Amino acid sequence: MEIQKVGVVGAGQMGNGIAHVLALAGYDVLLNDVSQEALDAAIQTIDSNMERQATRGKITSDQHKEALGRIKTDLRLPSLGASDLVIEAATERETVKTAIFEDLVPHLQPHTILTSNTSSISITRLASRTDRPEKFMGFHFMNPVPVMQLVELIRGIATDEEAYKACLTVVDNLNKTAASAEDFPGFIVNRILMPMINEAVYTLYEGVGSVSSIDSSLRLGANHPMGPLELADFIGLDTCLAIMNVLHDGLADTKYRPCPLLTKYVEAGWLGRKTQRGFYDYRQDPPVPTR
Ligand code: NAD
Repeated sequence: MEIQKVGVVGAGQMGNGIAHVLALAGYDVLLNDVSQEALDAAIQTIDSNMERQATRGKITSDQHKEALGRIKTDLRLPSLGASDLVIEAATERETVKTAIFEDLVPHLQPHTILTSNTSSISITRLASRTDRPEKFMGFHFMNPVPVMQLVELIRGIATDEEAYKACLTVVDNLNKTAASAEDFPGFIVNRILMPMINEAVYTLYEGVGSVSSIDSSLRLGANHPMGPLELADFIGLDTCLAIMNVLHDGLADTKYRPCPLLTKYVEAGWLGRKTQRGFYDYRQDPPVPTR
């Protein structure tokens, strides 16, 4: 099955990155959002991110111009009906996502593949709310999309091989690498990464090490490019806590219980870089540990 037209629902942080890489790979992209400001901001972000890539010699200015020309925006969801593939990247709330799929389905062509970029909602459950669970998958990009190499492709219980292969071809055309995952909480990356971060917070909570000794241990002792607490601040401590709760609830195993110290930081509104304070205080340069 040949995919040429891709609809992207949600023009936030992930949606604009997804539109960016698809357009550079030659796909026609129709980007949808409920907010005109989000659509305008997305086009501006894509333009400036491509400009930076051109300045660094990663793309030519012709590629920049042509790719930008392949992205159209539309506030009306039914306009995505002509797409061969839809990637939903709207707000991480199940009611929002199911409403999008229910509104979209009557306008789709029979061959259209539906996918979601969700980090934590069951693909099988989302698929069951559509008319085509066999053509429904998880298409999970990492943030920031233009930089990160991996895409997790998640099969729901009913996903057929044709849909999977069509999505795999798209990932190949983006020059990215796919990891195939089954539909269980956290898929692969978050299932492994978040318990590691949570364990680093426990290590801090129990006084085994300070923020800087924990981060330098993993950087220098395990060759991680970033320490786990630094990385948690980068991801957002609210996001880390939400994913731990998904693992804890979905896998019903106490080994996934979120560390009380992580909960405390979130309750304080110390969410990491985005609020200027988390395990480090970013109001000073260089940032200083908060414990
Ligand atoms: P975001 O808040 O930056 O963007 C969400 C966008 O969806 C907003 O522009 C909002 O206006 C729009 N939206 C809300 N309801 C809509 C609707 N009914 N129709 C169309 N658009 C609608 O969020 P994000 O960080 O880009 O996350 C989007 C999705 O990607 C989520 O499912 C999230 O779990 C997933 N994800 C996020 C990350 C990350 O690091 N941020 C990584 C991987 C996957």
